[in-house]
Amino acid sequence: MKKESNLKRLLEYAGSYKYLTIASWIFSALSALVALLPFVYIWKVIKEVLDVAPNYGDVQALSHNGCMAVVFAVAAILIYIAALICSHLAAFRVQANMRTKAMHHIVTLPMGFMDSIGSGKVRKIVYESSAATETYLAHQLPDKANALATPVGLIVLLLVFDWRLGLLSLLPVAAAFVIMSVMTGKQMRKKMEEYNNALGQMAGEAVEYVRGISVVKTFGQSVFSFRRFKEAIDNYEKWVIAYTKDLRFPMMCYTTLVNGIFAVLVAAALVMTSGGVTNEFLLNLMYYIIITPIITLTLTKIMYASENKLIVADAMSRIDSILEMEPLPETDHPKHPKDNSVELSGVSFRYKDAERNALENISLTIRPGEHVAFVGPSGGGKTTLASIVARFWDVREGSVKIGGVNVKDIPKEELMDTVSFVFQDSKLLKTSILENVRMAKPDASRDEILKALHDAQCDDILEKLPKGVDTVVGAKGVYLSGGEQQRISIARVMLKNAPILILDEATAFADPDNEANVQAAFSVLAKGKTVLMIAHRLSTVTGTDRIVVIKDGKIEDTGTHDQLKDKDGLYAEMWKQYNKAAKWKVGVSNA
Ligand code: ADP
Ligand code: MG
Repeated sequence: MKKESNLKRLLEYAGSYKYLTIASWIFSALSALVALLPFVYIWKVIKEVLDVAPNYGDVQALSHNGCMAVVFAVAAILIYIAALICSHLAAFRVQANMRTKAMHHIVTLPMGFMDSIGSGKVRKIVYESSAATETYLAHQLPDKANALATPVGLIVLLLVFDWRLGLLSLLPVAAAFVIMSVMTGKQMRKKMEEYNNALGQMAGEAVEYVRGISVVKTFGQSVFSFRRFKEAIDNYEKWVIAYTKDLRFPMMCYTTLVNGIFAVLVAAALVMTSGGVTNEFLLNLMYYIIITPIITLTLTKIMYASENKLIVADAMSRIDSILEMEPLPETDHPKHPKDNSVELSGVSFRYKDAERNALENISLTIRPGEHVAFVGPSGGGKTTLASIVARFWDVREGSVKIGGVNVKDIPKEELMDTVSFVFQDSKLLKTSILENVRMAKPDASRDEILKALHDAQCDDILEKLPKGVDTVVGAKGVYLSGGEQQRISIARVMLKNAPILILDEATAFADPDNEANVQAAFSVLAKGKTVLMIAHRLSTVTGTDRIVVIKDGKIEDTGTHDQLKDKDGLYAEMWKQYNKAAKWKVGVSNA
């Protein structure tokens, strides 16, 4: 079922650093064997002491043996450090390559992808999954090589001195192994996956929750109004408890067994020495009691290494879930739009996993330079319609054409240069305003950027900021209101100067000054361009060339303001409501 082992795939990510990983295993195994040598010298020390007792002055090789034990112990540590250096170099490379590959892939995905999955979740998958492999490659794998080499050396050592005691100390180990394999069996793997899913979901919901905190505060809601977050926590709790409970018994047996080896030895020694004790036997018994803690340590290392393998398998499949997402197909026969018209014919679109179409058989032609406003109830499909024009998604049925060419046949960069959009929640990056605007056109000069900011009515913003256009957005003491941020992002679009514009008008402005400024900026921006505007307030649509009313994914009506306002229908109704609200506002402010 599985094509390639995860390890092999990890090593592919390592590229030429693969050999460092292998070197790290060899060093690490070597270090394990060298680490056993001090025990041989300790045995010699004990033997000499017992042999000369009570004339301790007769010892000869004692200090030499003692020194050798220290030398080998230090050597083992040094070799281990060398192993870790190799493994870390490789692991960081793997991590970097995994991230790069995932990011390259994300760039090829439809633009709507980030919105629908949630950027928090994507970031978590890319960063945490690759980080999970880091621990595995840098520590767990060398430790595993180390842990596997140790028993081999140990078994040789154990059987050489007194095979009976040797076998006895291996008995609890064998039992512990059996329990361990039960613990990390197939079922546990499934549990681990479910546990990780629950964890991921909780983290995702937490991000959403923090985003929505202003709403919670404004409306005085309790935490429980964020039902999904609470459900995610509950779900996580369920898995943690189930997981822990399942592990309780095997873990208890395991711990008891591996830590109890010496007890087995002592009991056995009592039976074996019932006829009298020899120096030789005493020596070996002491020696075995000294050495058994290494067995415990080794087993614990092996156990954690295998547990981590599951985390890595899970991390790999998460990264794969991104890599397996269909990229937006790129055309082999690029064509270039002839003009700035937009034409939708028979367009239907459905979001992945949605139950019904968000757009249903939409046909609409927008002439070059025409300004069209989209209005209608929330959830009707306005944003969706605008985003398929910019090819955030590919349509299910029908076609979207710009300048007579299907958007699928327009090269990605050219399409981006042709269509600009201003979203409701314009995102500014944590850099200077200058750089934020420059994003739209990397080779723009400072003067060009300043002109764009001026056209976007941003002069008052720049004046009040300490460093003007070089002020870093989000820096301490710098606050930009939503409307101000939107004007800066309009400057960005202004600089790009694409011939087709998509505007998602902000729902509400805190202050009328800002609203007037944004409107003024919009009208400079829209001049001479084909404009698709999603309008939330009817005051801004009355002057457009055409109004398209959208409801339930369909075009309900189209016409100019004058045609629609007297016609029985949704728009006339909305217009009536709008005027009522406007009167009400005036009434209140006069009171
Ligand atoms: P409008 O902009 O008119 O308010 P939208 O275009 O945002 O409407 O939404 C149209 C429909 O598509 C709604 O039913 C909405 O729930 C759904 N929808 C919008 N965005 C997504 C998405 N990313 N994934 C799934 N469904 C979506
Ligand atoms: Mg919308």
